[in-house]
Amino acid sequence: AKDHGRGVHFAYEPSLHAVAEERRQLEFSLRKALEQDELQLNFQPVVDATSERVVSFEALVRWHSEEHGFVSPAKFIPVAEDTRLILPIGKWVLKQACQEAMAWPEHVKINVNVSPEQLMQADFTDTVIEALSSSGLNPQRLEIEVTESIFLNDTEVAREALAKVMELGCKVALDDFGTGYSSLGYLRKLQFSTIKVDRSFVQGAAQGSSESLAIVRAVVAMAKSLEMKTTAEGVETEDEAELMRTMGCDRIQGFHFGRPMTSYDARALFDIDYRQ
Ligand code: C2E
Ligand code: CA
Ligand code: CA
Ligand code: CA
Repeated sequence: AKDHGRGVHFAYEPSLHAVAEERRQLEFSLRKALEQDELQLNFQPVVDATSERVVSFEALVRWHSEEHGFVSPAKFIPVAEDTRLILPIGKWVLKQACQEAMAWPEHVKINVNVSPEQLMQADFTDTVIEALSSSGLNPQRLEIEVTESIFLNDTEVAREALAKVMELGCKVALDDFGTGYSSLGYLRKLQFSTIKVDRSFVQGAAQGSSESLAIVRAVVAMAKSLEMKTTAEGVETEDEAELMRTMGCDRIQGFHFGRPMTSYDARALFDIDYRQ
């Protein structure tokens, strides 16, 4: 019979190799994807909790790879972050997203995810200015989404970069709130416009978890006193929507109101001719 420890050791080695090898292949393909226009944006509606009207869309990147088929951003964004490919990808996303928002009614905003590595670049503000000016989008219609991880290392650089885009008139949302290194102290460092309540708390609260209920209640109360809006993420059912509305969330996002959709389908919500 095999020694227990050694058995585990041998069982792990090939799979670690396989993971590393898969990442190398993804990196190679991702470089090509950028050049060959394999990336696309989808847009997921964010609705006002009471009127249920669309107030924004979140831009979510999609990759249909020739070699790998559909690859989830949850898988390739981390690879892009490790290899600095997130920099050209991030620029492309910002530009495309701003351009697309120009096709929607004025009151509809665009939310764009930005990785910490992008924020750390000296030219981040220039990238935002370039996306705004090439599209002609009003800065007030752009909301940058960042996660708490930006506060992990060089807090000051990230804070300054965000302060600069706020000066331009853009808004900033704190994404996945409560999942990370969550210190409430972060909320005082920047005047975020929006706090996005992570789906895990929405689900937990709907299932009656008193801990999740308490967290959602506390986040909503805190946001109100700091004059920030709250968006409940990952709302999949009417019950979850009703609960988040009752708890005072300002906005709701999730499959219940709309999945991430093509630009064509997003425009169709407003009866905008795709070809114009
Ligand atoms: P995220 O920013 O938290 O985006 C929300 C994710 O939740 C999206 O997954 C969306 O499809 C999913 N979602 C929305 N509503 C529901 C729901 O009701 N139920 C469930 N189960 N899921 C829901 P997606 O598109 O796979 O993106 C995953 C993550 O990839 C994003 O999480 C974000 O961190 C990253 N990402 C996506 N696009 C970009 C991008 O352009 N730039 C950067 N830096 N990151 C991106
Ligand atoms: Ca997001
Ligand atoms: Ca999120
Ligand atoms: Ca997330």
